[in-house]
Amino acid sequence: MRNEPIMYLDNAATTNVLPEVIDAMLPYFDKAYGNPSSSYDFSVRSKTKVNECREIIAKSIGSKASEVFFTSGGSESDNWAIKGIADVNAGRHIITSKIEHHAVLNTCKYLEEKGFDVTYLDVDENGLVRPNVLKKAIRPDTFLISIMFANNEIGTIEPINELGKIAHEHNIIFHTDAVQAYGQIPIDVEKSNIDLLSASGHKLNGPKGIGFLYVRNGINIGRIIHGGGQESGRRAGTENVPSIVGFGKACEIAMDTMEKRAEKEIILRDHMIDRILYEIPFSRLNGHRTKRLPNNVNISFQFLRGESMLVLLDMAGICASSGSACSSDLAEPSHVLTAIGLPGNIAYGSVRMTLGYKNTMNEIDYAVDKIKEFAHKLRAVSPEYEDYMNGMI
Ligand SMILES: *Cc1c(COP(=O)(O)O)cnc(C)c1O
Repeated sequence: MRNEPIMYLDNAATTNVLPEVIDAMLPYFDKAYGNPSSSYDFSVRSKTKVNECREIIAKSIGSKASEVFFTSGGSESDNWAIKGIADVNAGRHIITSKIEHHAVLNTCKYLEEKGFDVTYLDVDENGLVRPNVLKKAIRPDTFLISIMFANNEIGTIEPINELGKIAHEHNIIFHTDAVQAYGQIPIDVEKSNIDLLSASGHKLNGPKGIGFLYVRNGINIGRIIHGGGQESGRRAGTENVPSIVGFGKACEIAMDTMEKRAEKEIILRDHMIDRILYEIPFSRLNGHRTKRLPNNVNISFQFLRGESMLVLLDMAGICASSGSACSSDLAEPSHVLTAIGLPGNIAYGSVRMTLGYKNTMNEIDYAVDKIKEFAHKLRAVSPEYEDYMNGMI
């Protein structure tokens, strides 16, 4: 086992925690460990700090602090948003898309078993949910629309403003899983007509196991964690103070650095995409070319298995992924790549590389050189490639 990878290109799976974030967290483990709910003076520091972080996060999405509720991460936020709304609304019908994260898809499947109807919208070849497709799916009993802000596998950024507007024109509650988008691209819950938004700390150089759900003022939502009166009585459990502090700090830094970071990552991303497409035959980019997260590269290489490429990259000290971290040991091709219309044999040859603030142009060039070398190696032993080259297909 390596302690540190030589090159980390899997920032959509998780990120390193910034040193400033660790420093901010440390005092809340041993010095200011008071329970924010306690009434004595010693707990004031934790309570004040939690509220300060709530303010920072609210500001980052254009909401009020009273609309931000801390959770254990993106998965809990997605579960809470969808189950919590289903619990207290009279409708039967939910609309989501075929390319959502499993935290959304499997929550919807669970609700289908409970008697709800769910429509999983098709996306176009770039992974975009078309506003007209959403409009057509709306029924009189639709009470919730849940469409992700940006996709975790192919990086496509959805037309959230338009989708949110359609939801509100029909008086339907609009939830977005913004776990990948948050900290990377600007988000404004007012402008985008968002009622509920999920985000997670560990995707923006904060700690794991912390996230939040934004719930628009006036939205009625049931609880999924019952217990004490924390988080205004909506989400029980003693606040994870050190992680909330870390999340607040990570958010503050992410907002301050967003523009410059995106600018740099887009240059690296586009260089990587261009070099791969130009220098490696039978490769294609997945996801929209420009409506795309600054850090996402997702490529399908024909005539090789993405898994084999990942093994070779791993041996070279490069961390990449074949899809979402959660499904990387499944044998089925990614549901996202299937939804954008990739046939199985091409979807199987896919590799996702997601950049972070630490990556450099030298690293990207090194990674592309390695990918090129390994693609050549793997195809040299591929019977399909040989058949193709012999003109048999
Ligand atoms: C990572 C991720 C999640 C899950 O977040 P956790 O904090 O790991 O539970 C949900 N949705 C998307 C789009 C993600 O990328």
